[in-house]
Amino acid sequence: MHPIIEQERTYGAHNYEPLPVVLTRGEGVYVWDDGGKQYIDMMSAYSAVSHGHCHPKLVNVLTEQAQTLAMVSRAFYTNKLSLFLKKICEMTGQDKALPMNTGAEAVETALKAARKWAYTIKKVPHDKAEIIVCEGNFHGRTTTIVSMSSEAQYRTGFGPLTPGFKLVPYGDAAALEKAITPNTAAFLVEPIQGEAGIIVPPTGYLKKCAALCRQHNVLLICDEIQTGIGRTGRFLAAEHEGVKPDGVVLGKALGGGLLPVSVFLSRQEVMDVFTPGDHGSTFGGNPLAATVGLAALQVLIDENLIARAAKMGEYMLHQLQKIKSPLIDDVRGKGLLLGISINPRYCSARDICLRLMKEGVLSKETHQTVVRFAPPLIITEEQIEQVIAALRLVLEAVAVEMKIKA
Ligand SMILES: *Cc1c(COP(=O)(O)O)cnc(C)c1O
Repeated sequence: MHPIIEQERTYGAHNYEPLPVVLTRGEGVYVWDDGGKQYIDMMSAYSAVSHGHCHPKLVNVLTEQAQTLAMVSRAFYTNKLSLFLKKICEMTGQDKALPMNTGAEAVETALKAARKWAYTIKKVPHDKAEIIVCEGNFHGRTTTIVSMSSEAQYRTGFGPLTPGFKLVPYGDAAALEKAITPNTAAFLVEPIQGEAGIIVPPTGYLKKCAALCRQHNVLLICDEIQTGIGRTGRFLAAEHEGVKPDGVVLGKALGGGLLPVSVFLSRQEVMDVFTPGDHGSTFGGNPLAATVGLAALQVLIDENLIARAAKMGEYMLHQLQKIKSPLIDDVRGKGLLLGISINPRYCSARDICLRLMKEGVLSKETHQTVVRFAPPLIITEEQIEQVIAALRLVLEAVAVEMKIKA
């Protein structure tokens, strides 16, 4: 075994199962391993590297701010935080933002806001607030967040879990309506389910959910940690359906591929439930994070990355659909959040990823059968063609080995 991999396996917890590659450098859509081999990164850290690796402008901004003022905590104002909050509110059409670091923390913030809103504004009886979530959801890994997961592995062994959540099938607005009670505080939903395997709900789903939420005085909160910041070809994926949620959670690409930066955004009435001392984070909104977050949004605009994601995503989806292989069950996604599901009769998605790695393409399977393609939004048509060529090669090789006839 590679000594670096062996060392990590010795001293690190085994809560991940990485592909056997040791990366040492990144630039744009490319990363390099310790042997100097170049790869196209089709994972981009689960969408955290949408701007590309080590974006020079973002690295510059980070370095300059790190030498000026990096961290003070929210005990004081800084000259950076408000600029970031104003920009992200303007871009999402929301009134107010609460900065955190990781996605899970921003989701926790959303849950706390929704519950307190239910008690103070909607007048739900004490400790009775319910939050409706979808089967197959992924919102993070804290104890409360895994309490609302439908995935046995995420929950088992971590109880006692947090009560107050209700699961409904994803993509089924009628099921949402049935689940709503007078105690329902919020419906928390991903516009496209990323970790579940790039599941795109039926057209009109989010719009119907938004109407139901409005009708029943329930907050619609969209977890756009993975789908937001241009990934699907709109700044927020909810925009595809003309939906403006009551709350939005953002993270991942908001840190420009350099830092953990997340926010919970909402209408004034919802955010106003927080008073000094209710909630917070030592690092949330620090000047370094705020500066990088603001620059990440500015680069997205300056480099026209949202339109790029739409155009390149459409191109790649079309190229994937043109591949005629008995190994592919389905091709799906929106913008540059794409996935193919592999027929498990023939091979695992991980096997495809291992073979793609040898061809210089890095991706990762999700749920054994899906290979995800979510590259940095700066990817070019030529680079997509290289990925498609590598994928064709790998699929043909497996078909030959398995003696599958097309
Ligand atoms: C990644 C992700 C999270 C969790 O973010 P972390 O930064 O890993 O805590 C939550 N929701 C969605 C939809 C995600 O993709």
